[in-house]
Amino acid sequence: MVSAPSGTGKTTLCTNVRQTPDLIYSVSVTTRPKRPGEKDGADYFFQSKTEFENKLKEGGMLEYADVYGHYYGTPKAPVLQHLAEGRDVLLDIDVQGARQIRESKDPQIKASLADIFIMPPDLEELRRRLEGRGTENAKQIATRIAAADAEMADWKSYRYTILSSSMEEDLIKFRAIIRAERYLSRRLNLQNGS
Ligand code: 5GP
Repeated sequence: MVSAPSGTGKTTLCTNVRQTPDLIYSVSVTTRPKRPGEKDGADYFFQSKTEFENKLKEGGMLEYADVYGHYYGTPKAPVLQHLAEGRDVLLDIDVQGARQIRESKDPQIKASLADIFIMPPDLEELRRRLEGRGTENAKQIATRIAAADAEMADWKSYRYTILSSSMEEDLIKFRAIIRAERYLSRRLNLQNGS
């Protein structure tokens, strides 16, 4: 599970990670409008508020949150299915969702969880990155900067924190964490282990 304030470069990182087959990216459901270039079913499942609320009522979400006035949620069934079949799943969710996942009573979620916070260098750099990507207007950028400030307060709740520098560096650190997590003794299922 990865969280990072908007503009930290996490989406680029996750896109990169998705190009390798060892991690399954969990595609979230959102009620926010599609951005240019985004694909339904790949970046998000774009749904109406009613569709989202129905899925929520049916118990179909592992977690959900209201982020910047829109709903975002993780569909439960595919995540549990992948974990049951021994595949690692990557969740890219905000700090509110992360809290819910940490509190999950599901034994599969508890056993597999590793959480990483990606910390932007500082708010000014974050502003530059958000302005540079040009997908939000000035008001939306201000909202995201304020939210980032609040999200950054939560970093200590995560087992790992990556201090974001270049995309390449962030990716190397991210990969190192995933690799080490896979060597945890409790995750190994040795035939002759006693
Ligand atoms: P964006 O609109 O920029 O794609 O994402 C905005 C925020 O929503 C990001 O912090 C992202 O991590 C978060 N987010 C994306 N999917 C989910 C989800 O399924 N659950 C939660 N709680 N947050 C999500």
